[in-house]
Amino acid sequence: MIQRSARRFIALALVSATARAAQAQIPPSIEFRVPKAPTVAVSDSGAYLAYELHVTNLTSTPMTLRRLEVIDDASHATVLTLADSALLRVMARPAPQIPAAQRAKIGAGLRAYVYLWVPVDANHPPAKLLHRLTFKPEPPDTTRAVAEGRASANARAAVDTNLVVLEGTVTPVEREAVVISPPVRGEWAAFNGPSNSSGHRRLVLALDGHVAIGQRFAIDFLQVDSSGHSYHGDPSKNENYYDYGTPLLAVADGIVVETKDSIPQNVPGANSRAVPINMVTVGGNHVAIDIGHGRYALYAHVQPGSLRVRVGDHVKRGQVLALLGNSGNSTEPHVHFQIADGPTFLSSEGIPYATDFEVVGNCGVAGTPPAIVCTRHPATTVKGGIPLMNELVRFPK
Ligand SMILES: [Zn+2]
Repeated sequence: MIQRSARRFIALALVSATARAAQAQIPPSIEFRVPKAPTVAVSDSGAYLAYELHVTNLTSTPMTLRRLEVIDDASHATVLTLADSALLRVMARPAPQIPAAQRAKIGAGLRAYVYLWVPVDANHPPAKLLHRLTFKPEPPDTTRAVAEGRASANARAAVDTNLVVLEGTVTPVEREAVVISPPVRGEWAAFNGPSNSSGHRRLVLALDGHVAIGQRFAIDFLQVDSSGHSYHGDPSKNENYYDYGTPLLAVADGIVVETKDSIPQNVPGANSRAVPINMVTVGGNHVAIDIGHGRYALYAHVQPGSLRVRVGDHVKRGQVLALLGNSGNSTEPHVHFQIADGPTFLSSEGIPYATDFEVVGNCGVAGTPPAIVCTRHPATTVKGGIPLMNELVRFPK
């Protein structure tokens, strides 16, 4: 019995040594992928690519993402490098309770999102991007010893140099954003518009079995006067808002594929929704138009009973679809507008578009109680672009 046990131990030891040798050649199982390939977006401050990398640690060891490089796949030039606090700022975790400083440490079996915002040359964007990620495996005992200051200098050096570099996930770059006419005329504030940190940009949802950011490039358009107010008189009345009842225009020729017209309006205010907010009511009354080539224009929060079109209607560019209102998940009259690759607000992927406008200022929310503050500046003309978050823009009349 004793001899048999000893032989078994030797055999197990050999297997174990072989397995270790094999493991040394197999990189750690970490998935990183781009759910939606980026399209070049143009703004008054240059062109950019806004997309995400989803990083999933499929090993049994926590892995800290230390560095991320975005590389032009053709020239091998590094387009963007993120590390330290700059990397932490663009990372998020599905579990919001993970502290900001711990976002880069991806536990066994867990996922992180990296929100990328990559400046590019509008005329010569990379055709494909490659991603290089540097991880530090976190063996629990060594990490704790270093943290408590008990580790020897050698142990500390081993932790810092034990880095894993993974390269892969080549994503194509779509060069041409869909060209549209603006959904409204005149001057508007582009609240919650494209930025790397807006609420629209960071709403990742898994619906229909896959993740998507339908609102990646969504904008809440509203109108303000010269002192930044969006209303006159009593702010609890929808009709006192400057933009209330504005005609919403078809941004391209298309076919109406989805409408809702029966949700009552909210009294303006942070918490005064007229109906419980769920998947059916979140966008309020709305219109979706198929504008061709797998692209859809979506208009949300419109006035009940104001729809001028029905599902199946063919619409022409500039045609009035509905009137701006305050229904669904909305605090005051505005239009939530987005272009996406599907007719749903949340389960399709938001994409940028190209339209003409002038940037005439910037707006924000400040003070107590919070109030809109806008600063005007000389106009900058943008041809074939999309407004950035909180810009004050003027569309052609
Ligand atoms: Zn919105």
